[in-house]
Amino acid sequence: MLELFNAGFLIISEGGPAEAAEGERRMEGAVLIVEDEKDIRELIDYNLRKQGFRTETARDGAEALRKIRDGKAGLIILDLMLPEIDGMELCRLIKSDPEQAVRRLPVVMLTARSEEIDKVLGLELGADDYITKPFSTRELVARVKAVLRRYGAGAAGESGGKIIKADELVIDEEKYTVTKRGRQLDLSAVEFKLFLYLVRRPGRIMSRDFLLDAVWGNESYVEPRTVDVHIRRLREKLEDDPSEPRYILTKRGVGYYFAEKKGNP
Ligand code: CA
Repeated sequence: MLELFNAGFLIISEGGPAEAAEGERRMEGAVLIVEDEKDIRELIDYNLRKQGFRTETARDGAEALRKIRDGKAGLIILDLMLPEIDGMELCRLIKSDPEQAVRRLPVVMLTARSEEIDKVLGLELGADDYITKPFSTRELVARVKAVLRRYGAGAAGESGGKIIKADELVIDEEKYTVTKRGRQLDLSAVEFKLFLYLVRRPGRIMSRDFLLDAVWGNESYVEPRTVDVHIRRLREKLEDDPSEPRYILTKRGVGYYFAEKKGNP
């Protein structure tokens, strides 16, 4: 665990402030810290600013929503335990907002160790990552950078401009969209990146650990279960019948793969 942490930190420290600046350039808006506890809010704020991030803070859900809808946020650090609207509900509101720009904002949830179930639920509601309290500020900064890297890579695409057609799906790597029978599907940044990774390698079975590395990167701290959660969300969005998927298939005990086109050798 310690080794993992150190390895992660080493990767992060290579970039230093320049990398943070790059993350900021890619991100329109600030890191919005939503936390009612003053000490924690200020600690996160201080450490992100020190790394060159622009920040905004909010003490409760209402203030957070105002700032989000004013376009002030580029990424949201969201504490689970908040007065009035809790973090889970706020995450649900963000991910179901009528504005696509709001729905696509990366969300990093803050949870206490005892809130294991909520953590998974947060991911199911569309959070991009979570951090368990107590956390080190280094870990927090690393996570924020990792989410932004993922988001940036997904948004920019790996090559750009390419349109992939797979049966009824059309994937536009540049516009970062997936349409099915002409209707645009609402995928999060991470879902899109995961889907693109599978689509580009039809028929190739990839384990959860492999996908975790490929899509989330080895600097992040997500659990293999995260892959399953995202696969399930993708199926709910892509498949006519998510329980009988025909695009993203499971090879039991091995991993996931994108169905090869019918008629291909
Ligand atoms: Ca709190």
